[in-house]
Amino acid sequence: MADALRIPDVIDVAPAFSVAEVATINARFDGVATVEMLRELITGELAGRTAAVSSFGTESAVLLHLVASIDKTVPVVFVNTQKMFGETLAYRDELAERLGLTDLRVRRPDPYELAARDATSLRWSFDPDGCCEIRKVEPLRRALAPFDAWLSGRKGFQGKTRNRLPRFELDEGRLKINPLADWDKARLDAYFAEHDLPRHPLERQGFASIGCVPCTSKVLAGEDPRAGRWRGWDKTECGIHDPSF
Ligand code: SF4
Repeated sequence: MADALRIPDVIDVAPAFSVAEVATINARFDGVATVEMLRELITGELAGRTAAVSSFGTESAVLLHLVASIDKTVPVVFVNTQKMFGETLAYRDELAERLGLTDLRVRRPDPYELAARDATSLRWSFDPDGCCEIRKVEPLRRALAPFDAWLSGRKGFQGKTRNRLPRFELDEGRLKINPLADWDKARLDAYFAEHDLPRHPLERQGFASIGCVPCTSKVLAGEDPRAGRWRGWDKTECGIHDPSF
């Protein structure tokens, strides 16, 4: 293939937000209900500047339903690492249809990067950080290039690395919004029930947190919900999120 066909590198642009602005917005929405905060931002100053990012994992339906209840046209980015469970892809399509999402953007790794750095497709087995960089982080970086802000579905209760999660963070010059930062499991379950949202088909089999096939295992009773991710490795995040929260 000619180089002209390569996926272009992300061009650096001026940051959309500063540390001070993120602190201000955290204070501004302190105590404001999740849906009110989302409505004010995505129909106001962040209209047309925001994407939701979803793995279509076990609890993804809550954030997507909240967003869709306000504006079904908000772009939703899904990174297909090409190591996903078939069940996740089917769930993605079911949920997108059910919620009426009109702008689902599926992004994949750069095939040149895969050929150069993961030709055997086994990089996950000896360098999971490098594998995540090629298959998740870089495709997401490209997908988010047109946006000033993005919505993440992280929750503070999800394991010891996320319990100090703020509602708003600065992420490579963008505003990263964690609308569910202070939601607990009971509240998520109640939201699923109230809105009759479908569950990820693997959840009932014991998968509490779902990523790529080689790096996801079942979680035992009493374990951290994310204990099944990269089991056996000193790794808790894929590189998309700051592991210090
Ligand atoms: S979760 Fe595993 S397979 Fe998926 S990108 Fe990361 S290391 Fe690779």
